[in-house]
Amino acid sequence: MKAEIKTRIKQLRSEGYGYKKIAKALDLTLSVVRYAVNKMSDEDLLEGHCEKCGIKIKSIKGKKRKRFCSDRCRWDWWNSHLRDINKKAFTTHQCKCCSREFSSYGNNRRIYCSHECYIKDKLSKKSTT
Ligand SMILES: [Zn+2]
Ligand SMILES: [Zn+2]
Repeated sequence: MKAEIKTRIKQLRSEGYGYKKIAKALDLTLSVVRYAVNKMSDEDLLEGHCEKCGIKIKSIKGKKRKRFCSDRCRWDWWNSHLRDINKKAFTTHQCKCCSREFSSYGNNRRIYCSHECYIKDKLSKKSTT
């Protein structure tokens, strides 16, 4: 069987088509469709582990592979990851010139909130010394 037909059958199955409808739509015999779907069901029986709590999970055939056992785990996972991403990406600093807090992206060590403050500070230093 061509992979192309297989993916078509898979697609129709996920859209809720029955064997008969698929056979008609793709101009195949009922037994061919049934055989293909049975084979696919074996391939599609996905087993995995929840990425949050590690519990064993089975994904529903024909549906997207699950990554989490529950909405709660997915939510927790995303929350903690977003926090990590934010922590890594943004650092908070206080402007040396106007004392305003600002966050900068990445690892750079900005000491001024803006170029304006940078210039101001430089100029004030120049004038006092
Ligand atoms: Zn879980
Ligand atoms: Zn500033």
